[in-house]
Amino acid sequence: MEEQSDPFLMAVLDLNLPDAPNGEIVELVVSRGIPAIVLTALINDDIRDQIMSQEVFDYIIKEGPQSIGLLTDTIRRYVRNQAIFILVVDDSKVTRSLTRRMLEKQNYQVIESGDGKEALQRLKENPQIRLVITDYQMPAMDGFELTAEIRKKIPKDEMAVIGMSAAGNPVLSAKFLQNGANDFVSKPYHEEEFAWRINQNIEMLENIMKLKDAAIKDHLTGLYNRRYFFNTAEKFYENAKRKNLYIGIGMIDIDHFKTINDTYGHAAGDQVLQHLSQILKSSFRASDIVARYGGEEFIVLTANMVAERYSVHFEQLRKKIAGSPAKTNSGDIQATISAGLTTRLGTSLKDMLKEADDLLYQAKAAGRNRVVVKLSPEGDKSALGSIERR
Ligand code: GH3
Ligand code: MG
Ligand code: MG
Repeated sequence: MEEQSDPFLMAVLDLNLPDAPNGEIVELVVSRGIPAIVLTALINDDIRDQIMSQEVFDYIIKEGPQSIGLLTDTIRRYVRNQAIFILVVDDSKVTRSLTRRMLEKQNYQVIESGDGKEALQRLKENPQIRLVITDYQMPAMDGFELTAEIRKKIPKDEMAVIGMSAAGNPVLSAKFLQNGANDFVSKPYHEEEFAWRINQNIEMLENIMKLKDAAIKDHLTGLYNRRYFFNTAEKFYENAKRKNLYIGIGMIDIDHFKTINDTYGHAAGDQVLQHLSQILKSSFRASDIVARYGGEEFIVLTANMVAERYSVHFEQLRKKIAGSPAKTNSGDIQATISAGLTTRLGTSLKDMLKEADDLLYQAKAAGRNRVVVKLSPEGDKSALGSIERR
């Protein structure tokens, strides 16, 4: 600790050391503001209380090799928590700061409010909040009302609510759940139990997010899948039609991909697909849709880009791809793409797709590694006036 000038992420400490047999190391490390995980071979209520009364993140009982897996999980949890925002709603300042202290020990980001009304305001200001811990009895708006208000807008699988109620009142707990809370704890809570309940709820949110992600994304490339593209593009299209905005559709196909597979093997082909997908993704904004349309075909829907920029942007993309080989297990492989690009809204999204596909075909016929563009005809250009220019 004396020699190292960079701050430590965390410390893993054995409770019993030859020159510090009674856990003295924990106090020393914690007093330097370093988060700690404590390892112990011996555990009983006294030892547990002694460890957890200090500012340590967690403790692990040494029980053989499986403890190492537990240790890595625990470190991962610590790092994950850093990005998780929790709102603590309680009219008692004392309870609030106790809960804050407990959460900060767990490395969570904490935001506080004193009643339900204020909590709703905090939620509006901080859309990154993932979990709300709320007391029942509060002025202005109580915990039930707050929970019900949250549930009008945000479902259980996007934000967790944990209700707090005084011990020995099961009716309150039931009422919390009825109003849409994910869980409840009794006050005064047991710190360790509370921490694990919070963790369970966060894990549940994460698992659902992963499932949702898997349903809309392509497994190999991580790009959106075809189904997601159609669901979303249809909305973009209707909106553009109604407000007379520009959208662009780009259909992209890898040139002679079959030859790449035949020459280097299917696994290397997959790596080329992944490499090109990365370039594609990084070439557009998060508000654009980049999807894997089929095997070696991609589709891009761009919004809010001035029509003339489309061709320049896609030409740059084509060049970039033609100049950056994919590093694969079978060596570097240089692929090229052809693209068809249109900004003509036509009469339907299907129309636009058909046109982009025709243009892509022209690009192939003209020798590949090129972009063929059809911008809106002059008559449509008046629409430019209503486009957000950036
Ligand atoms: P063109 O320039 O005309 O587009 O020629 P091409 O060879 O790229 O076109 P073709 O449609 O004949 O072949 C596409 C190939 O893409 C055939 C198929 O095996 C391969 N492919 C499709 N999906 C995948 C995939 O997920 N991984 C790999 N490695 N290959 C794939
Ligand atoms: Mg193809
Ligand atoms: Mg192809």
